Amino acid sequence: MSNTDQVQRILFDNVDVRGVVTALQSSLQQIMAGHNYPPVIENVLGEMLAAVTILSTNLKFNGKLILQAKGEGSVSTLMVECNHRNECRAVAQFDPAIPEQIGFKEMLAKGHLVLTIEPEVGQRYQGYVPLEQESLALCLEDYFQRSEQLDTKFILACDGKKARGIMLQVLPAMQSGTDDWQRLAMLTETLCAEELLALDNETVLYRLFHEEQCRLFSPQQIEFKCQCSRERSEKALKLLDANELREIVEDSGVIDMGCQFCNSNYSFDVVDVEAICRELEAKAAAKT
Ligand SMILES: [Zn+2]
Repeated sequence: MSNTDQVQRILFDNVDVRGVVTALQSSLQQIMAGHNYPPVIENVLGEMLAAVTILSTNLKFNGKLILQAKGEGSVSTLMVECNHRNECRAVAQFDPAIPEQIGFKEMLAKGHLVLTIEPEVGQRYQGYVPLEQESLALCLEDYFQRSEQLDTKFILACDGKKARGIMLQVLPAMQSGTDDWQRLAMLTETLCAEELLALDNETVLYRLFHEEQCRLFSPQQIEFKCQCSRERSEKALKLLDANELREIVEDSGVIDMGCQFCNSNYSFDVVDVEAICRELEAKAAAKT
């Protein structure tokens, strides 16, 4: 497959509909590496990653997009992030006894979907929809219908090795339910998950819309990149109290700050912690 790990916008010439098609493979495998997720978790997390790269590309802003699903079933949290450079990461929190076969709605029982837009400059925005549909794709369609009254069609698929997705959405100016939208949405629905997983972006477009006037924008590369660092871990430690920090390090000899996204570990020994504590105390003294 030629265009793995690429996301591309779709332009229709004569119809007020926009689209995005995405493919993740080595980025997906890097994100999953070391987590030992069961297949049922890999598949849903992969679909969420496909969705977040689509949404980030569709929104065109500088910053970070976070898609979270929270529930009270076997899965408590699924969280995926993508920034405008298409750097992605993901994490899942779930009951290890999760059944091998379980539906999206059931695993996230009494759940909701949260979409957070964190621009580098300006206001943070958060949107929310209860998880009342049988699949992530349907929940996202529901989200856009409720929050922006925009007709949207999602097809998402993941087999653990690769994740793929396509989204079509009416432009805000267009009246929903027009013949053009109905036709394109119906065409998109003819694509099943197996087919989507087997085809590259260009072939997907040809397979669905060869009778339409449409084209793909140039591809943008998707990669796995975690935003964690020793500096960020140190910053988090500095939110604690110096005495509290000394107590922890006296007990265990070291403070380990693990990253839940990439499994990196940042260790702070007695000397490191003492330096942090002195800095905190100097700051406190300067204030008073
Ligand atoms: Zn990390």
